[in-house]
Amino acid sequence: MTSQSWRSLVNKKYQLSLRLFLFLNAASSLFSVTNPLYSVRALSAPLLAIFTISLGLLVWHWKNKKRKINIPAVSAIFGLLWAWQIGSKSLLITHNQAAYLMMALLTVLFIGSLAFISNIKAFTLHSLPSFAVCLWLSPHESWLRMFYFFALPMMAIGIHNWLQRRNDNFALDLLTRLLEERETLTDLSMMDPLTGLYNRRGLQSRLENLPTVDSGEHFVMLLDIDHFKAYNDHYGHMMGDQALIRVSAAIRDAVRSRDIVARFGGEEFMVLLTNISLEHARQTAERIRQKVYDLKIPHMFNESVATNVTISIGIAIYEGDELETALEKADKALYEAKNTGRNNILLSEELQTA
Ligand code: GH3
Ligand code: MG
Ligand code: MG
Repeated sequence: MTSQSWRSLVNKKYQLSLRLFLFLNAASSLFSVTNPLYSVRALSAPLLAIFTISLGLLVWHWKNKKRKINIPAVSAIFGLLWAWQIGSKSLLITHNQAAYLMMALLTVLFIGSLAFISNIKAFTLHSLPSFAVCLWLSPHESWLRMFYFFALPMMAIGIHNWLQRRNDNFALDLLTRLLEERETLTDLSMMDPLTGLYNRRGLQSRLENLPTVDSGEHFVMLLDIDHFKAYNDHYGHMMGDQALIRVSAAIRDAVRSRDIVARFGGEEFMVLLTNISLEHARQTAERIRQKVYDLKIPHMFNESVATNVTISIGIAIYEGDELETALEKADKALYEAKNTGRNNILLSEELQTA
């Protein structure tokens, strides 16, 4: 679930309350025509308008659910039509006018509270005209009761709205936090915890989103720390980890930010250089080798042989999504680099002849 589907859910609720409103209006107007309170001229212009507009809008909206209807405008129009209906009809009633006004107002308030329990604006727009007309036409003795009729749903809807908003904010807050956490988890699952570089999964995801070649080519480098087993044996695993962290940072420092650096396994790394020339790729490899060497991490083999931690690198071209092929070639070049003395960079065979 994303915040987009959240919004569409809220919108669906909104549109659903509109349909309920239209349905209630169509039903009430139909009922008023067939079973009029105080049977005075059953079919009137406002009733006819309410019935046809509500039915028309209902069908129109039903046919295409994407259609947007402005709820405040619709509720205001129906509010005015009901006020018109109540006003004109009450003038025709000769006895019990106050009772009629009370009943009519209750009906309008009833429709409004059912349909707009979560929309105080629409409720008010719908009820206010009838309320005003009823107040105007009824005797003073009824006013208090009418205020009470109007205030009660108003208050209930107000409180309901307040609660609803709190719930919505809470849910939205929860949703945002969940999405953030999901993002963090995704990031974490793509990162090597020791070095902060991409792991294989992260590399895969970056490869899938690789931009197309603008200029130059892509090159893949495999890097492997020299004699690292001996380093671990001599200094211990903890120191080995520290060395790995420093070497990783040196590699990251030596490349451009758009280049992808991944820890490929133990003390092996992969760098993908995108949109670059062979010459620049080679220079980058040399920069990495030098930077690692310049860390001057002491590496004593034994009493007599003391050097620094160094790295060997194999380079191959990365063409047409064939990462496996490129890696095989780079691995071969790395193997050769190891055989020719380590602390060394070698191009794959095809690059050497090119
Ligand atoms: P070469 O120059 O041929 O690469 O020699 P090497 O000793 O580096 O080669 P090898 O691949 O046999 O040894 C890799 C060693 O790296 C083995 C293991 O002790 C060490 N290593 C691998 N992963 C880690 C790690 O996460 N932490 C530490 N401290 N050491 C590791
Ligand atoms: Mg090694
Ligand atoms: Mg190795």
